[in-house]
Amino acid sequence: MLNTKMQELGENRSVIRDLFEYGKKRKAEIGEDKVFDFSLGNPCVPAPDPVNETIYDLLDSQDDVYLHGYTSAQGDLLTRRTIAADLNRRFGTSFQADNLYMTCGAAASLKLSLTALIVPDAGDEVLAFAPFFPEYRVFAETAGAAFRIVPTDPETFQIRIPELEKAVGRNTKAILINSPNNPSGVVYPEAVIRDLSAFLAEKEKEYGHPIYLIADEPYRELVYHSGTVVPYLPNYYPDTLVCYSYSKSLSLPGERIGYILVPDEAADSKALYAAICGAGRALGYVCAPSLMQHVIAACDGMVSDLEAYRVNRDLLYQSLVSFGYTCVHPDGAFYLFVKAMEPDASAFCERAKKHELLLVPADSFGAPGYVRIAYCVTEEQIRNSLPAFRALAEEYGK
Ligand code: PLP
Repeated sequence: MLNTKMQELGENRSVIRDLFEYGKKRKAEIGEDKVFDFSLGNPCVPAPDPVNETIYDLLDSQDDVYLHGYTSAQGDLLTRRTIAADLNRRFGTSFQADNLYMTCGAAASLKLSLTALIVPDAGDEVLAFAPFFPEYRVFAETAGAAFRIVPTDPETFQIRIPELEKAVGRNTKAILINSPNNPSGVVYPEAVIRDLSAFLAEKEKEYGHPIYLIADEPYRELVYHSGTVVPYLPNYYPDTLVCYSYSKSLSLPGERIGYILVPDEAADSKALYAAICGAGRALGYVCAPSLMQHVIAACDGMVSDLEAYRVNRDLLYQSLVSFGYTCVHPDGAFYLFVKAMEPDASAFCERAKKHELLLVPADSFGAPGYVRIAYCVTEEQIRNSLPAFRALAEEYGK
C-alpha cells in the first residue's frame, strides 16, 4: 500500500506542467517557432555575468572539499551575514545571520515555513488571497492545514479587508501573501499593507494568538516602474516570515536557492526558527546547495536585466488590449492575467491551442474565467504570436 495522496499528486501533474509537456511534443511535430508557449514562469533573461564569473572563480580559487561540502543546516554563515546586511541597507532593518535559514528556493521556503507552523489535526487553517500560486494548496494541505481562499477585488485583484474578515477565524494560523503577484502581476500598495497589518493585529488580540503572514517574495525585484514600491512586510507587521528565492531575480530557478527570514520581532521567533530547522531535518533537506550559497554571498543584491521583461509586458499588454482582450495592468512579476472570452477558461485555452497559443487556465489559481500568460519569453515569440492572439479574439467576435 502506497501513500495514495502522494501518488495522486504525482499522477495529476499541475496544469502548467501538462501544458509545458504538450508544448514540447507539439514543437517536435510542427517546429519550435510555430508554437507559442506561454505556460511556464522560467526566466528568459540570463543570470547577470558576475554569477557565472563567480562560479568559475570559486572553482579556481577554493578547495573542492570546502566548495562542495555540506554547509551548516541553516546555511553558510558568510552568506547569511551578507544577505542580512543587504536587507538592512535596503529596508532599514537590523537582521543578523541567525534570522536567516537558507533553502532550496521559495517552494522549499514555503513548505518549511508551513511545516514549522501547522499542527496536524489541530484544525489549523492557512489562507491565501486569490489569485494565488497553485502549489500553496499542496504545501498547506500536506502540512496538515485546511486551505481557504480569500477573494479579492474582481476587477483589480487588490486585497479587500471585508473579504478577509469573512475568512479569518480562531483557527487561522497563517496567511500567504505574494506581491508582485503570480499570476496577476499586481503589487499590493502600502495603504493596503497598512490596513492588512492593522486588521491582523486586532485579530491577534481578539484571538490571543499570533496569525503569521508568510510573504512569498520571488518577484520582489521584478517591477517595471521606478515609482512602484513593494512594501517590506516585516516593517509593517512583526509576525511576518519572508520566503525569498533567487529563481527569478537572478534567473537561477534550476539551481534551487533561496531563504526564509524570521525576524526577532515575530512571536515565538526563536522557537519558530528552531521549528524551521526541525522541518528541514524532517523533510530531508540537509542544507541548501553549497556552491550556490557561495555564489549568493558574492552576488547578493544583483538583479538580472529586467528591461527585456518590461519591453515584453508593454508589447503584449498594449497589443492584447487593442485586440479586445481585458487584462489587469501588471506592475510586476512576468505574467499577464487576461479574462477568458468565454466563461470556461479551460475551453478558451483549448481554442487558443488551435492557434498554437499555450495559455494557462487560472482555475487552479483560484480565479476561474481568467488565463495566465507568462511573458518571460523572447520578444520575437511575442511578436510572432500576435496574429494568433488577434485571430483568437476574432473568433469571439472582437
Ligand atoms: N511562489 C511563487 C508565487 C512562484 O511563482 C514560484 C515559482 O514560480 C514559487 C513560489 C517557487 O519558486 P522557486 O523556484 O523559488 O521554488
